[in-house]
Amino acid sequence: MSVGVRLRSGVPEPGQSWDAARALGERLRSALGLREVAVTVNANRSRMLAWKNPTRDTLRLSVHHSLLPAPDDVLAVVEHRDASALQRLRGLHRPSAPKPPALTFVHHDLAAVRVAEDARLAVIAPAFDTTTVPVGWGRWPTRPPRRSLRLGSLGGSPPVARIHPVLDHDSVPSWFVGFVIFHELLHAAFPPQTRASGRRSVHTAAFSTAERSHVRFADAALWEEQNVSRLIRRVQSRVARLSR
Ligand SMILES: [Zn+2]
Repeated sequence: MSVGVRLRSGVPEPGQSWDAARALGERLRSALGLREVAVTVNANRSRMLAWKNPTRDTLRLSVHHSLLPAPDDVLAVVEHRDASALQRLRGLHRPSAPKPPALTFVHHDLAAVRVAEDARLAVIAPAFDTTTVPVGWGRWPTRPPRRSLRLGSLGGSPPVARIHPVLDHDSVPSWFVGFVIFHELLHAAFPPQTRASGRRSVHTAAFSTAERSHVRFADAALWEEQNVSRLIRRVQSRVARLSR
């Protein structure tokens, strides 16, 4: 009869979490009459609790660290999917914030470039403070892009903007990097809307109007059109070089 504990990276206060996970494992083992329980403590952003029974008397459980103070509720959910216990666990669940993206640069200091964009956005969307959204470099892809390239993205809760690292190059004008930052931060200020058809609209009419007010809007569209294939080739050759 045994209880195993594993902590995933990002779990705060590992010592305390380990003890709490061990106690939870023991609690589950004795209450459910199991032979073996393996508890993994995670710091996931989505799934807070998952489990399976590889055999009838063994249990593998993955639990978010924020639920560890409520072993009885975890037991009630695992044992008979107790609805009110599940509700309480949802109230306890504190999804981990996404890691801030990298700021190290060779040519473009995003922290400096974003200043003018934040100022512009403060005028366009005064209700939302874009300076609270971290902006950093995304990771290089491991698969080569083919025809298109996503130069920036915004995701996570709270949101984080990631800029494609191919833009950190001396052939890329800093005003263009600024425009990409502006576009992503604009997404934070103008969240996607659900249309009457039920489909999600990411670049809403309000978004597009705001985007067009940027002094470099036309220049940015032209620059991207004229340079995107060169950027794609640079990403492709880097992926090829690193996979050799
Ligand atoms: Zn967009």
